[in-house]
Amino acid sequence: MTHPAQPKASHFINGEYVEDTAGTPIPVIYAATGEQIATVYAATPAIVEQALSTAKAAQKEWAKMTGTERGRILRRAADIMREHNHDLSVLETYDTGKPLQETLVADATSGADALEYFGGLAASLTGEHIPLGEDWVYTKREALGLCVGIGAWNYPTQIACWKGAPALACGNSMVFKPSETTPLCALKVAEILIEAGAPAGVFNVVQGMGEVGGALVTDPRVDKVSLTGSVPTGKKVYAAAAAGMKHVTMELGGKSPLIIFDDADIDNAVGGAINGNFYSSGQVCSNGTRVFVQKGIKEKFLARLAERTGNAILGDPMDEATSFGPMVTENQMNIVLGYIKKGKEEGARVICGGARADMDGYYIQPTVFADVTDEMTIAREEIFGPVMSVLDFETEEEVVARANDTEFGLSAGVFTKDFTRAHRVIGNLEAGSCFINSYNDAPVEAPFGGVKASGVGRENSKEAIKHFSQVKSVYVRMGDVEAAF
Ligand code: NAD
Repeated sequence: MTHPAQPKASHFINGEYVEDTAGTPIPVIYAATGEQIATVYAATPAIVEQALSTAKAAQKEWAKMTGTERGRILRRAADIMREHNHDLSVLETYDTGKPLQETLVADATSGADALEYFGGLAASLTGEHIPLGEDWVYTKREALGLCVGIGAWNYPTQIACWKGAPALACGNSMVFKPSETTPLCALKVAEILIEAGAPAGVFNVVQGMGEVGGALVTDPRVDKVSLTGSVPTGKKVYAAAAAGMKHVTMELGGKSPLIIFDDADIDNAVGGAINGNFYSSGQVCSNGTRVFVQKGIKEKFLARLAERTGNAILGDPMDEATSFGPMVTENQMNIVLGYIKKGKEEGARVICGGARADMDGYYIQPTVFADVTDEMTIAREEIFGPVMSVLDFETEEEVVARANDTEFGLSAGVFTKDFTRAHRVIGNLEAGSCFINSYNDAPVEAPFGGVKASGVGRENSKEAIKHFSQVKSVYVRMGDVEAAF
């Protein structure tokens, strides 16, 4: 019998499901059991061509609609998404293995927030009038044209919406390629947009690996590329886009610092560290995986952290009581287990976890290492799994320098009751998305993105509009034209 997660077809182009079984088969594996639940096929060159030509043609008409009309469609899509939140969350759980306890509140709901927010902004994308005596200049905020979105596997619904909603609000069309690991959810986003009244061809989904992504990025018809992925992929995609002088948004990886001062509220700091390391089993780009704890509260912090981490409920992700799910794939599990082994070999102290969980599926115990030093591999590389490194520090100056000593710059957090210090420390940290006495909140109203190797551009908020539109300036002369000859 066909599994309920199996989509009608692999791709969604011009308002309908499209199949081409000549593409490489991509198995969809449910991470909690290892069972194959669906198959999709990578886009063939013919499918890529169909998606790009359709999106290119649809964009012109879409951009001619008023912002109010486009916004109404996006807001209707947000409502439909919320109505179907439970089914979409179940699908997200099948796609990623993340517990339903999380997907019910963080995936389709976040996607719906983006559709609603950018739907609301669509009507207010105006230009300026610049008086110059009798003459004047006016500016228009125009769409970029055809945008390509490429997603990572940790938040498939959210990523499709965080890219699709601002792109469409500005009058662009999009071809979206989900991660080959989680190909299911973006198809639902495309279906919902059509149901909400979006013209066919405005938002299309094609499946495939890096090769398909590469074909999309290098096509001369494409005006903008927005990627969520790792730094190595980001460097390749950025270079390919630059060769065609295309706009880019790069949402890449991180190794973010979370700094906890002696005066912090211990339970809030522990809660921040748990949210910043173990949500989605640690598969979150902005995670605060280098937890710097001031020496005075170190042992108290570790004891409370171990106690609370012991309360994680590993189990069937479809059971709403489960609070900690498997890694997305066997491969990702093995990568993370490799880092845990390295952490032990390099002398870090295991406070809790430190091994695969004794159950079916790709589960790793939530793991905390203490006595981690700056040179250790687990303190330098992005692990993308449930592995927290706790490092000691003594002074503010020292911790800021050490926190910044990384190629990454996605996020940073600080826990302290001293607000002057909190703002000073955040001001000195090289990161794009920061938190004071909190960690990993990502409301659509706030800009999200990194500095240094962690990325270029911002998603969400009014900032995203700047990255999906461009300004045309028009000089208007009222008098005669003077010329030298
Ligand atoms: P990845 O870099 O392996 O793949 C990301 C996407 O790029 C996939 O869809 C993949 O098929 C595609 N791709 C790969 N090579 C390509 C190429 N040459 N041209 C075009 N497309 C190509 O990343 P992943 O393993 O899917 O996701 C995990 C990474 O994503 C982590 O580093 C994580 O930090 C990052 N991430 C960042 C954010 C953020 O917003 N900053 C959010 C989630 C994940």
